[in-house]
Amino acid sequence: MGGGARRAPSCGFAGAVVSERFDGLGADGAPARLGIMGGTFDPVHLGHLACAEMARDAFQLDGVVFMVAARPSLKQQQAVSGVDARLDMCRLAIADNPAFDVSALEAQRPGITYTADTLRALRAHYPANVELSFIIGADSLETLPSWHDAAAVAALARFLCVARPGTPDAEARARAARADGFAVDLLDAPLLDISSSEIRRRVRAGQSIRYLAPLAVCDYIAARGLYAERERRC
Ligand code: ATP
Ligand code: MG
Repeated sequence: MGGGARRAPSCGFAGAVVSERFDGLGADGAPARLGIMGGTFDPVHLGHLACAEMARDAFQLDGVVFMVAARPSLKQQQAVSGVDARLDMCRLAIADNPAFDVSALEAQRPGITYTADTLRALRAHYPANVELSFIIGADSLETLPSWHDAAAVAALARFLCVARPGTPDAEARARAARADGFAVDLLDAPLLDISSSEIRRRVRAGQSIRYLAPLAVCDYIAARGLYAERERRC
């Protein structure tokens, strides 16, 4: 089924199903490639943005959609900021890049967020000429075979893996995931030692996070008092 004409169910972004910019991708029948940058984004940071950009460039993706997990299955034991704030921060972070967009698809779905369900929804929305590539850090790649409905995940997308500081030997992890049936390509990208956990820790400690996240995101965090019990600097 073509994606261009489909309009329901709404994800709350001006009637978009996946995202305003990319709902019609592939509707002309030409081959197209969509990157999916999945994450909690609590908050989104320059590591996420660089991963998405390096993947877009290396694999000639037509666009990358930031898929914000509403209730991530692997983070059920920890407090996560509200999905609306995380969506807002992603929108601010990608605003200057026409090749990026944000999706509220997962935010609209009740219950635990599973990537298998998301990929099924994307596959149902887009015509077969749209290839789906899931962008993933090496730390997440390690957990891939244990994801809910891993066989469906493996069948529905290929994986573009970005090495990450603190997670050695991305090559071996990629090989292991391939042996489990996943199509994995490793990206040649700079190692960026930035994480949302470290940003949250710094805000709590009253330390600057400027240049770790886009300025608009830093300003949003400061204005909303996210992550901090005491005054923050940004
Ligand atoms: P947290 O510390 O809260 O887990 P995070 O920085 O890992 O946050 P997530 O939202 O958990 O961010 O990650 C989303 C995706 O982005 C994951 O696949 C993760 O591996 C990847 N990722 C995040 N930061 C980097 C980075 N600096 N380099 C490579 N991959 C990254
Ligand atoms: Mg993480």
